[in-house]
Amino acid sequence: MSNQTLTLDDRLYRYLINHSVHEPEVLTALRHETAQHPMAQMQIAPEQGQFMALLVQLLGVTKALEVGVFTGYSALRVALALPPEGKLVACDVSAEYTAIARRYWEKAGVIDKIDLRIAPATETLDQLIQSGESSSFDFAFIDADKSSYPTYYEQALQLVRPGGLIAVDNVLWSGRVADPEVTDSRTSILRTFNDTIHNDDRVVASLVPIADGLTLAMKKP
Ligand code: CA
Repeated sequence: MSNQTLTLDDRLYRYLINHSVHEPEVLTALRHETAQHPMAQMQIAPEQGQFMALLVQLLGVTKALEVGVFTGYSALRVALALPPEGKLVACDVSAEYTAIARRYWEKAGVIDKIDLRIAPATETLDQLIQSGESSSFDFAFIDADKSSYPTYYEQALQLVRPGGLIAVDNVLWSGRVADPEVTDSRTSILRTFNDTIHNDDRVVASLVPIADGLTLAMKKP
C-alpha cells in the first residue's frame, strides 16, 4: 500500500491500460497512424483521453473548446463523449496535422460536431470573447505551445461558464518542472504557470499525475 502516487513501471502501466482503457476502434487506428508521425509525442495518452471523456460526460458538456489539436485524438475522444447536439471549437495552426484529424473525425461521424479554426489560438479565443461567447463553454482543454499557456488560460477562464472546467496538459513536463538544473524558458514558464494556478482564487484546481500531468481547474461558481 502507498499513500503517495505510485511510479508506474512498464508492467504496471500495461496493467492499467489493459484493465481500464476501452478505446473505440477509430481512436486506436488514429493512435497507430500518429505513432508513425515525427511529432508523435504530442498525442495524449489513451488513459488520459478516456479520463477526459469521462469528465465531459460527468459535467454534461455540450460546448467544449480545445487549444492544440495536432492529429485530433483528444478532440475525437471529446467529440464522441458529447451529446448529438454538442459542439467542440478546436484551435490549431497546422492545416497539415489537422488534415489527419479531419479524416478520422469524418470516419467516426463526429465531423459536424467539430468547428476547426486554423489560426493562432489566442486570436480565435479573442474572437470568441468579442463575439459574446464568454461564460458559454462547459469545458476547455489546453494542449498547445507552452509559451502561450498563461494567455490561453486567461482566455479560457473567460470563456468557460462558472462551474466549467479547464484541463491543462503537460504541466509536469516529463518531471523537468521539479528539476532545479533545468532552466530553459518553456520549463520556467510552466513552473510559473503551475504556481499561478495553485494560487488562483478564481478556480478550484488539482494537478492530476496522469500521463505528463494534467491540471484540472474549475471556474468557481
Ligand atoms: Ca500534450
